[in-house]
Amino acid sequence: MTVYNFCAGPAMLPPEVMKKAQQEFLDWQGLGVSVMEVSHRSEPFLAMVKECEASLRRLMNISDEFEVLFMHGGGRGQFAAVPLNLFIDGLPGVYVENGIWSKGATDEGKKYLPTHAVDIRCDAEGKFDILPVSAWQLPENAAFVHYCPNETIDGIEIVDVPKHSSAPIVADMSSNILSREINVDDFDLIYAGAQKNIGPSGLCIVIVRKSLLTRPGLVKPAILDYALEAKQGSMYNTPPTFAWYLAAEVFKHLEANGGVKAMAERNAAKAQLLYDYIDSSDFYSNKVASHCRSQMNVPFWLKDDALNATFLAEAQQAGLVALEGHRIVGGMRASIYNAMPLEGVQALVAFMDKFAKEHS
Ligand code: PMP
Repeated sequence: MTVYNFCAGPAMLPPEVMKKAQQEFLDWQGLGVSVMEVSHRSEPFLAMVKECEASLRRLMNISDEFEVLFMHGGGRGQFAAVPLNLFIDGLPGVYVENGIWSKGATDEGKKYLPTHAVDIRCDAEGKFDILPVSAWQLPENAAFVHYCPNETIDGIEIVDVPKHSSAPIVADMSSNILSREINVDDFDLIYAGAQKNIGPSGLCIVIVRKSLLTRPGLVKPAILDYALEAKQGSMYNTPPTFAWYLAAEVFKHLEANGGVKAMAERNAAKAQLLYDYIDSSDFYSNKVASHCRSQMNVPFWLKDDALNATFLAEAQQAGLVALEGHRIVGGMRASIYNAMPLEGVQALVAFMDKFAKEHS
């Protein structure tokens, strides 16, 4: 039976990449040892990371104005690294809030600098909604403006990019990097934990404008220091080598399959199929306003919570796994990142329809 894994993260990876990793698990590049067993400073590993960065630069069209860092510590590591590196005495860190992860970033930021939270939620009539970017009240003085373009738990995605007259725009793209085309030049810092659209957990991609690396910021752990990591080729300490290697394989796979443009088209089709079905049903609901629904994470609720356990058990039997909603919001959540094929979403919709008919 084909199993489709809807986990929000660590999420499914492209099967072709997993098979390749399996084939070369014990013998990487004919060295007779695993990629996990070679020095990060050895020639083959250095060549691999060079190509990995070049591949990501091609996929996202990243210019030389930006440094690409491969760091530890996932998304939450960056919740700390951003204020520590971008601190300016006397200026607040501005945090746009519209869900659980953006609020999490504020909570971490508060430890290091004064914060100014901008709440963009404008829920009405039982809908989760947010203000359009043009209506955000961003203060003029800011060390940076942080926001989360895709709230993994709330299922809210912001496609337009905010602008600020002086402060750098920082985006937590942990759950939607590489899922749609963006103009990197619209941002000053993009970060993403790898475990959704890139590879295994343990690696975090940081794309940072070089001009920001001269900010002294605050005293910080060396492994969270952007300027130091840039100088050291992201190898100040031993990097998560296996995660880095798998990320490189995922990037290669994306390039060989039409790049971000092709992913974006596929993702739009998958999301539309699922949202259209949910909207057409009176058994399921998604409460997010249609203009800001996430293409990556689709939370949905059954009309009767008492059926949740049965839904999950039967879905599992049908090969549809990890559909349980986040413990904070309940219900269900289908995460349909790049690696999820259209067939997976078709199978989910067919199962949901059958389940609704049997339990209405
Ligand atoms: N930001 C977002 C948008 C996330 O979805 C997550 C994790 N799901 C995080 C940050 C935290 O990432 P990590 O667990 O890698 O620290």
